[in-house]
Amino acid sequence: MSKDISLAVTDGSGANKLQKTGIALLAFGVLATIIAAFGAGATQPVLFFWLSVGFISAGTLVYAYPYFQHEAGIKNNNIFKNGMTNRGALAWFTGLVLTGFYIILYWFPQYLEGLIRMCDPLSWLLRNKAADQWFLYGTLYTLAVLVMGFRFIGKYRHNRYQIIRTLSVMFFQLGFAFVLPGLLLMFNQPEFYFSYFWPLKYGYLWPNDINYVVSSGGLGYFMIFWGAIMTFIATPLLTYKYGKRWYCSWVCGCGGLAETMGDPYRQLSDKSLKAWKIERYTVHGVLVFIIITTIMLWLNSAWEGGLLGTWSGNFSQWYGFFIGSIFSGVIGTGFYPIFGNRVWCRFGCPMAAILGLFQRFKSKFRITTNGGQCISCGNCSTYCEMGIDVRAYAQKGENIIRASCVGCGVCSAVCPRGVLNLENLRDEK
Ligand code: SF4
Ligand code: SF4
Repeated sequence: MSKDISLAVTDGSGANKLQKTGIALLAFGVLATIIAAFGAGATQPVLFFWLSVGFISAGTLVYAYPYFQHEAGIKNNNIFKNGMTNRGALAWFTGLVLTGFYIILYWFPQYLEGLIRMCDPLSWLLRNKAADQWFLYGTLYTLAVLVMGFRFIGKYRHNRYQIIRTLSVMFFQLGFAFVLPGLLLMFNQPEFYFSYFWPLKYGYLWPNDINYVVSSGGLGYFMIFWGAIMTFIATPLLTYKYGKRWYCSWVCGCGGLAETMGDPYRQLSDKSLKAWKIERYTVHGVLVFIIITTIMLWLNSAWEGGLLGTWSGNFSQWYGFFIGSIFSGVIGTGFYPIFGNRVWCRFGCPMAAILGLFQRFKSKFRITTNGGQCISCGNCSTYCEMGIDVRAYAQKGENIIRASCVGCGVCSAVCPRGVLNLENLRDEK
């Protein structure tokens, strides 16, 4: 029996020589990042960009390369014996570092000046302006999706669906969420993200943002048109046909980061009934809040400020602070190593809530199960990042039609018996 899939053999968790080289490169990159943050990044930006970002990326790629050398297919990988992937000290440390970084990024960017200046050459090249904290964030975010996407493809390369959808999220993050908004700025157009729509990018249907975008002229009108078409026409149609996976697992940047950088933590999702109950309240609560806020802002705009007065600005700021910054950023991403990789998507994302309602009540997408083949190994439930007890459906031979399922397909990819199939039915049953 291969030791990779044997629970009885425990010596598969140590890093091999190549991975140790990767760790050394990574450590060097982290050291360079710390030195850059203390000011060296501002004086020698190009040098420190490559020493920091270059070595961290190279180290991660080298560390991940052995995934391409192993036999393709599912592996145990000792995830529950490794502190990094089972809430050990290293996981808590990583969670605190990530969370600390988010807090400094959002509220104390002056302490990141060295790192921001380090990104200046790239920012001038792409956007024709100096970098700011959000450019630093976008650069790191995109690199994380690309580098960890490479790792993901190596790990799940036995499964065509996983390869294609990972290439898709890498493409949308790099092209639509990083390069294109930068080029728009270079040509003096509003910074616009063509892969985000209301209610996730709530401002795209709010009066102030619309006024700002259309003030740029023809392209601005196209952006508003694009946003409205995607929200009101494309989203229902695509979700009817393909379920929420077309967005959550193929296009969205938050989902892209969760699937790539967050993949080592997908088994940490809370599978309890209590978590499912909380999830339904919170995710739909955020959606209701966004809908009410959007309506009130439009009424306020129609009455020229008569409804909310000076409160209209506070509304957007509060939402941006509590939901956009604290929930989706600090908790949703910073705590990947503790709560799992889809905390934001599961408990807070209003886009996931709307897509989920379509998926549950009006969609052809479902995961079909061939119950007779199931050996109850539980791999599917373990790796479901949305905390769905997939095995319970498989054992009963029931189709899975759940609002929360993001259609990542990992349950199917890790099933040793080919029990689970992601399907778009021709006719609704
Ligand atoms: S049920 Fe399967 S496809 Fe759906 S979220 Fe869970 S692992 Fe992904
Ligand atoms: S459906 Fe597949 S992965 Fe899930 S319990 Fe059954 S055999 Fe295991």
